[in-house]
Amino acid sequence: MDKKTTIKTAQSVLLSSSKVNEKGSDGILKLQLLPYSHNALEPYISERTIDFHYGKHLATYVDNTNKQKSGTPFADMSIEEIMLSASGGLFNNSAQVYNHYFQFEAFQAPNENNAPTGNLKQALEKEFGSIDEFKKKFAEVALGLFGSGYTWLVDNNGKLEIQQTHNAENPLTEGKKPLLNLDVWEHAYYLDVQNARAKYVENFWKVLNWSAVEKRFEK
Ligand code: MN
Repeated sequence: MDKKTTIKTAQSVLLSSSKVNEKGSDGILKLQLLPYSHNALEPYISERTIDFHYGKHLATYVDNTNKQKSGTPFADMSIEEIMLSASGGLFNNSAQVYNHYFQFEAFQAPNENNAPTGNLKQALEKEFGSIDEFKKKFAEVALGLFGSGYTWLVDNNGKLEIQQTHNAENPLTEGKKPLLNLDVWEHAYYLDVQNARAKYVENFWKVLNWSAVEKRFEK
């Protein structure tokens, strides 16, 4: 993918991109509201975790992006353009803004009938054998990530792959289209399950909104 295509892809798979990129008249990006209440993911992800993870960690990444882009050629760019153009601290903060909105927009209140359907289901079964096998492999990759980062399902030129990235890194910088991500920084789960990352991954499937993942897959 060339850079222009990558930016377009980044914007199309972040379903809330236009909202995320709303700026005040001062050019400042605001922390956008979650599409559900902070206790909506309980008992799997607690209100306290969302208060900190969304309300503090993500808010800080938004603030830092605003501070670091101000008065630079990045000032008027979208979050996707910044992430795919900047390096160093501004890359880290803008990619964290993207990665967090990308994850949180794909959560929903627990739903027992929650499962992939249609073309995505078929593609997952073709690549991994079954949805259970996919989840097992995804968990293995998430548990195998040393330190901070994310586990992703990506579409790499039509082939579904599970990938891990470190710190703020994002598969779009390698030209891969992300379909879902799981934040495995300790701040994402420590308040709820302490060091039990496996339990956190198990809980993740309970609140994942597969229809958001399907929308990204069809883009
Ligand atoms: Mn996080």
